[in-house]
Amino acid sequence: MEAEIISVGTELLLGQISNTNAQYLGEQLAALGIGLHHIVTVGDNKRRLKTSLRAAWERADILILTGGLGPTQDDMTKETVAEFLNLELILDSASLKTIRCFFSRRGRHMTDNNIKQALLPKGGIALPNPNGTAPGVWLEYKDKIVVILPGPPFELQPMFENHVIPRLVNLLGDKHTVIKSRIVKLYGIGESQAEEIVKDLVASINPTLASYAKPTEIQYRLTAKAASDTEANNLLYNLEQKLQARLGQYIFARDEETMQEIVGRLLKKHNLTLAVAESCTGGLVANWLTNVPGSSRYFKGGVVSYSNQLKTTLLQVPTEMLHRHGAVSKEVAEAMAAGIRSITQADIGGAVTGIAGPGGGTSEKPVGLVYVAVASNTGVYSRCYQWHGVREIIKQRAAQALLNLIRQHLLEK
Ligand code: ATP
Repeated sequence: MEAEIISVGTELLLGQISNTNAQYLGEQLAALGIGLHHIVTVGDNKRRLKTSLRAAWERADILILTGGLGPTQDDMTKETVAEFLNLELILDSASLKTIRCFFSRRGRHMTDNNIKQALLPKGGIALPNPNGTAPGVWLEYKDKIVVILPGPPFELQPMFENHVIPRLVNLLGDKHTVIKSRIVKLYGIGESQAEEIVKDLVASINPTLASYAKPTEIQYRLTAKAASDTEANNLLYNLEQKLQARLGQYIFARDEETMQEIVGRLLKKHNLTLAVAESCTGGLVANWLTNVPGSSRYFKGGVVSYSNQLKTTLLQVPTEMLHRHGAVSKEVAEAMAAGIRSITQADIGGAVTGIAGPGGGTSEKPVGLVYVAVASNTGVYSRCYQWHGVREIIKQRAAQALLNLIRQHLLEK
């Protein structure tokens, strides 16, 4: 069973909004084991939408259209589908009643153009939309299924989950397969080096293993296809165990988890507090840490000591040390970590200093040179990195390196 998504909306083509509906539907279809080979985006234009419908009709069994169900002139998805299939549009009185109720509950006036939202291609079933005015459409015609969903994600998602998935599952019957994925995140190893270690696993067909190099980490996506949830989970579990055995020392998180969440969890576990002193990252570490809800329990705060003057006055880094070793040095990174720990009375002080570029590098200290340091009651230590890349990427890598050093420190507890 093959599906095709047709996203309707000129806004999408202009790059004004991202096609998160297609992303969401892609994930959902994969979970149902329904193949998806094409996602087409088309503007609010009848002629071009018909061209897209024609192509999709040729190659897919299930056509899912999103957007263009509104009351205005440029919303014409249903009309175009009806014309394309030579089907009449019929007023669905139950939908009209629901739309009237929607307006009266909100004390808003319903205009005549809302009536068109209650029109359905003949043979279509209205899919309820409690979060908006436009009902969706489920239409079985010839040997195809056409599903039309509203554009706003908060309308589309509940409609898909409550009214489309059950129908699709019913349709799939015994052919129902489940596709499940898991992500395993690694730090401290390069993609090609990791690939060498898991070469045989990458060659496997089910479950599959694929790597993605992100600026701050390597991600492995494990994907299993099976007849049931349990079977898919077992396949994933077995593969993950193998990854763990071979690359365990580099694995820091799974699925949606981030480095900062892991650091936060470890700090909470050990009942410790953290403060950070940042130079080249300009507050990025503090930003990431505070993106985690509940971080006030363990994160005391930080200092962006970009200038040498602030490193001295706020963090008590000796002027003589700055002159002798330079702001980007092991000594200064460690002094910053000790300094922030001392002024904030945090259990752990973290620091990062480096050259993010594009200017400012020398042959001795090139762009991409970064020191991260951790200070605690057991002493101070640091690590040095040398990366290539643009300023923004080096800042992200530096922030992640500091968080990782803090994580490793906490794991030794
Ligand atoms: P409405 O009834 O609100 O007019 P609609 O079904 O006509 O909805 P559109 O007018 O195409 O949908 O889009 C309405 C809004 O929904 C857009 O401004 C955008 O915020 C969101 N939207 C539309 N398509 C997508 C998409 N593919 N991905 C994410 N958001 C989308």
